[in-house]
Amino acid sequence: MSMEWEELIPRPSSRFLRVRCRTCESEQIVFSHTTHIINCRTCGETLAEPTGGKAKINGPVIAVLG
Ligand SMILES: [Zn+2]
Repeated sequence: MSMEWEELIPRPSSRFLRVRCRTCESEQIVFSHTTHIINCRTCGETLAEPTGGKAKINGPVIAVLG
């Protein structure tokens, strides 16, 4: 991987994340900089909370989707 390639990405900290719910272990895609609370589709647990920048993620990130 070259440095030139990385410079082509405008916002490297902005990603879609696959997050596993701590309560029911289902997985859900959340945006790393979401502006609203994201709840688990299965059990309603809060998976991500907006902070004004990078969201607070309330569970393990399984994969980063770019
Ligand atoms: Zn859940």
